[in-house]
Amino acid sequence: MTEVVTAPAKDGERVVFDDLEIGEIAMDLDDQEPEDVIEWAFEALGDRVAVVTALQIDGMVVLDMATKIRPDVQVITVDTGRLPQETYAFIEQVREHYPQTRWDVLFPDTAEVESMVRRQGIELFRKSVPARMLCCQIRKVRPLVRALRGLDGWFTGLRRDQWASRAAIKKVELDHDHEGIVKINALADWSGDEVWEYARANNVPIHPLYSQGYTSIGCGPCTRPIQPGEDDRAGRWWWEQGAPKECGIHCPIETGNFEHEAEAIFAEAHGIHS
Ligand code: SF4
Repeated sequence: MTEVVTAPAKDGERVVFDDLEIGEIAMDLDDQEPEDVIEWAFEALGDRVAVVTALQIDGMVVLDMATKIRPDVQVITVDTGRLPQETYAFIEQVREHYPQTRWDVLFPDTAEVESMVRRQGIELFRKSVPARMLCCQIRKVRPLVRALRGLDGWFTGLRRDQWASRAAIKKVELDHDHEGIVKINALADWSGDEVWEYARANNVPIHPLYSQGYTSIGCGPCTRPIQPGEDDRAGRWWWEQGAPKECGIHCPIETGNFEHEAEAIFAEAHGIHS
């Protein structure tokens, strides 16, 4: 690994980069192996970086690589309340496989979910793209945003070839949607085949739904197996036409067109605008 110079993290101290610094580091890391990128993040950010994963294959590979460097790495996942049963069982399997990892399973705010369901119904995501993005916002994005506030960086399983909106991601970049912390996309330049090769060669636990034809795994009602020839993310929100296959975690929420209803839900849930 070519040395990428960064001041190491000190205990308890926030580590903040500016765009110029992270741009230079991203250029240095761009041709380096995922493990080197992960190692850089641990050195630069110390304990204030976590693997954030929905336990899909890419996130699992990142988790495996991270545990080889730091066995007690923090792992964050969101229980939206609509996950398939297989995912709950898989979480337990993964925890057993990496016994030193520190887990945070996040839940959405109960009052917000209750308000959303009262106003829009429990299957609101079928009604429109904004309604679906609202559901993702309440059940998935907001719990994660709360967790990210305590971090200086997060590891993702994003790859450039997954979807058009991911084509330009860097291996490390500032996440301006989440207070400018560092987003580490160590697998950015890997193909799906490389990810699967690594997973098999390293005995990485694999979510059981992959063997049933799923290629992308999220909430139960919003994910199905793909048909031959379809894109890997075609099984997510498959009833929508022309909408991004994103939940809002990795793209700006301003594009969602659900903000007015979200404000009404926050006000109903908390008696305030948030
Ligand atoms: Fe709601 Fe579906 Fe998004 Fe899950 S994936 S949070 S059920 S819209």
